[in-house]
Amino acid sequence: ASFQAMNLSRPILKGLSKMGFEEPTQIQAKTIPVALLGKDIVGAAITGSGKTAAFIVPIIERLLYRPKKIPTSRVLVLVPTRELGIQCHSVATKIAAFTDIVSCLCVGGLSLKQQEQELRNRPDIIIATPGRFIDHMRNSQGFTVEHIEIMVMDEADRMLDDGFADELNEIINSCPKSRQTMLFSATMTDKVDDLIRLSLNRPVRLFV
Ligand code: AMP
Repeated sequence: ASFQAMNLSRPILKGLSKMGFEEPTQIQAKTIPVALLGKDIVGAAITGSGKTAAFIVPIIERLLYRPKKIPTSRVLVLVPTRELGIQCHSVATKIAAFTDIVSCLCVGGLSLKQQEQELRNRPDIIIATPGRFIDHMRNSQGFTVEHIEIMVMDEADRMLDDGFADELNEIINSCPKSRQTMLFSATMTDKVDDLIRLSLNRPVRLFV
């Protein structure tokens, strides 16, 4: 299926075309239609497969067709490293270039004060490493995840290998149970399975 056949909004098709994305990759072709239905997803996919756009496209589409009633952050994307966060933020910004969807990057190495200010503006999408995000959850005045509608855990195996299991649990337990959750992982270890059981609701499993 082409991006056009997926019933995506015009501004998203425009963003994809400006990025030079003409045809969906395998993981995108499988993930986008399922994610648009609001289902939880486990995706076995590695970096280089196009998995970033596989979750960013349906996220932006869902934000667009369900406009928000109050200013609030609605999407949380957790990534293992600062580098991956920067990449993901860049993809989100480009795909949303012709929309009013705003995303914010929340990783180590950036000023806490400046990030606090950005979070106060209620960006639609927050892209964060678990450690930095926990800092904000605990310490930023008035910051809340109670309106998060969609949560993504990208490279879950790496986040667990890096010892972020406790942080992940705390974040997951703070987000609404009614959220949609997508988890991507290159490998499916016992620890990843535990995380899936804990945080996803009858997920659709996609392999490429
Ligand atoms: P990712 O796996 O998300 O890190 O993406 C790997 C690379 O593939 C990145 O350089 C993307 O810009 C590129 N890419 C992702 N999706 C597409 C697509 N549909 N068409 C062309 N390039 C793509």
